[in-house]
Amino acid sequence: MKSFTTIQLQYAHRFYGFKGEAQYLHGHTGILTIEVADTIENGVNMVFPCNEIYKTAWEVLQNFDHALILREDDPLLPAVLKVYDEQGIRGGAPTNKQKGPAFKTALATAYPECRLVVTKETMTVEGMIKMVYELLKDKLNIAKITFTSGVNGASEEFTPDKSIDRCPLCGIALNENGVCPKCGYKKR
Ligand SMILES: [Zn+2]
Ligand SMILES: [Zn+2]
Repeated sequence: MKSFTTIQLQYAHRFYGFKGEAQYLHGHTGILTIEVADTIENGVNMVFPCNEIYKTAWEVLQNFDHALILREDDPLLPAVLKVYDEQGIRGGAPTNKQKGPAFKTALATAYPECRLVVTKETMTVEGMIKMVYELLKDKLNIAKITFTSGVNGASEEFTPDKSIDRCPLCGIALNENGVCPKCGYKKR
């Protein structure tokens, strides 16, 4: 069985070098659906609590929300950073509070202090799915990721390979000692 959650991400990007209107900077509300698969944990009658999928994913993915997403070779990148530098906001601003932990994978690097994500590949809906999987594959038993942005959409299915011990009282993953970090339940 699968549990899933949906996350909205608002972002600005462009397809650098693309011959079409998307080569100009523009914005979207993207909708990301993450499905996780496992057996049903009988105590709670769930695969995994959907709000926990959301929390785990949002922790890193909030770096894409209200962010500018540019490919690493896009000349807009140094141009934007120069402006942020001159304005004194590149290293952060007191009003920029919604920040996840900075991350760096083979496909994307997040700079939460200036709401920027630099990507290796063009951030199409397909590209976003690859980035999200890379970021979350070790945290969630991902079976499918779907991303839509306006009329564009893509999805990919994955083979979940983990077996996660979950709390029979609240459904979340037990830690390495078999203890629930939320309610303190201990696996016997
Ligand atoms: Zn777009
Ligand atoms: Zn628990």
